[in-house]
Amino acid sequence: MPSVNVAVVGSGPAGIYAAGELVRKTDAAVDVIDRIPAPYGLVRYGVAPDHPRIKAVVKSLQRTLEHERVRFLGNVEFGRDIDRAFLDAHYDATIYATGALHSKPLGIEGEQLPGSRSASDFVSWYNGHPDAAGGFDLDSSAAAVVGAGNVALDVARLLTRGVGSLCATDIPSSVLEAFAASRVRDVHILCRRGAADAKFTTKELLDLHDLRGVGVLVDPGDLQDLGSGAADSGEAASPNVELFRAWAADAAAQQSEPSRIHIHFWARPVAIQGGDRVESIRIERMERTDEGTIHGTGEFRTLGVGLVLSSVGYRSNPLPGLPYDLARGVLPNVAGRVVDEDGNHIPSLYVTGWLKRGPQGVIGTNKTCAAETVAAVIEDLAGRSARSGTAAVDHGLTALGAEVIDYGGWRRIDAQELARGQESGRDRAKICEWAELRAVGAGHLAETGR
Ligand code: NAP
Repeated sequence: MPSVNVAVVGSGPAGIYAAGELVRKTDAAVDVIDRIPAPYGLVRYGVAPDHPRIKAVVKSLQRTLEHERVRFLGNVEFGRDIDRAFLDAHYDATIYATGALHSKPLGIEGEQLPGSRSASDFVSWYNGHPDAAGGFDLDSSAAAVVGAGNVALDVARLLTRGVGSLCATDIPSSVLEAFAASRVRDVHILCRRGAADAKFTTKELLDLHDLRGVGVLVDPGDLQDLGSGAADSGEAASPNVELFRAWAADAAAQQSEPSRIHIHFWARPVAIQGGDRVESIRIERMERTDEGTIHGTGEFRTLGVGLVLSSVGYRSNPLPGLPYDLARGVLPNVAGRVVDEDGNHIPSLYVTGWLKRGPQGVIGTNKTCAAETVAAVIEDLAGRSARSGTAAVDHGLTALGAEVIDYGGWRRIDAQELARGQESGRDRAKICEWAELRAVGAGHLAETGR
């Protein structure tokens, strides 16, 4: 009999690392709850399909979900099927791990024009997320991606790399067809600060370097001031800057490639322009102030592009019934303990992952983040006995009309996706529609028409 029952809301890496840490360090029973009938969050729906090595982390996450004291309760949405009162009544502690799913807006004129979308929409689309809204028009020769982070690199890479090496991945066939028909040949990444300030990691830049048929262009003039990152570190050149310099020195060869990614530093978009849809983006040249901030120089130029994807970071939405730090876009907390406006811990509430610390860090960062949160849970629950059991949870969920798709249901989805993938020589053919995910998860294969 487990000593306590803990709910983890969100089955991405942050939530599953927390569940793993709990069952390793305590004899707690853990329910991992997710609104989607499939687990793994950003690993399934955020990591790019051409990064299978990053996706391989699923193997260790799966081991946690298969632990005898862990249950997966999919298709259960916080705020729709269950609320804080339900979790407070049934669990001794709840760890919220719902991540940061929403793109921050750019806040510039023309952002609403057709052809201007968020990078997170694009990522959801190429990863077959059931919420992905519509496809993307890839019928113009140039696109702009705003932001100097790894998501911008993922998006630029997927737009230019060609479909050959994507054919065997789990990318949805409809997306593969759209990429095959794409006319995009030039992608402009717009970075508002200097080369040493960009948040790109070297590994992701090297991925571009190694891409066949894709040139990377950097204007040497953009590297005259590397930015406050270089000034602060006192280093002449980081590995990133070395790469930018190498690209800048190799312009003729890079330009001759069939597709090109242009990385522009000191370039801030000020307006997206067009009649019925995006036709161009207006950019102001930025420069560094003596204080290390940036300001516009009043020098403008316009790039002709038919698609603009804003990739300026993610944001969590407030969760109903829970506090929210509007400025940071997180659940307010001290080392994982959720706190009220006076900074006092709200008993039994905890948080981990991007909802705790904001949208930064790679997947592995969530391990240490979860360890800190779980340490707080263990300290607070020492000597406590369970206030409820799994039978009461199941009973309560049924009474609320929740149609739970458990780990067995996910295995049905998984098996179906792998089988469909095998039929077409691919790793997996993802099920991308809500109705079909639910039908296959519930074992109603006949309803899918297969
Ligand atoms: P990010 O790393 O925070 O980058 C956001 C970028 O947007 C920054 O360069 C920021 O510039 C810029 N920005 C913010 N507001 C802007 C504005 N109004 N106008 C122009 N630019 C603006 O975010 P991300 O790319 O979404 O990545 C999120 C996290 O996921 C990161 O930790 C990333 O490393 C991780 N990730 C990792 C991988 C991987 O390992 N393969 C892949 C994807 C994502 P400033 O610096 O000037 O604010």
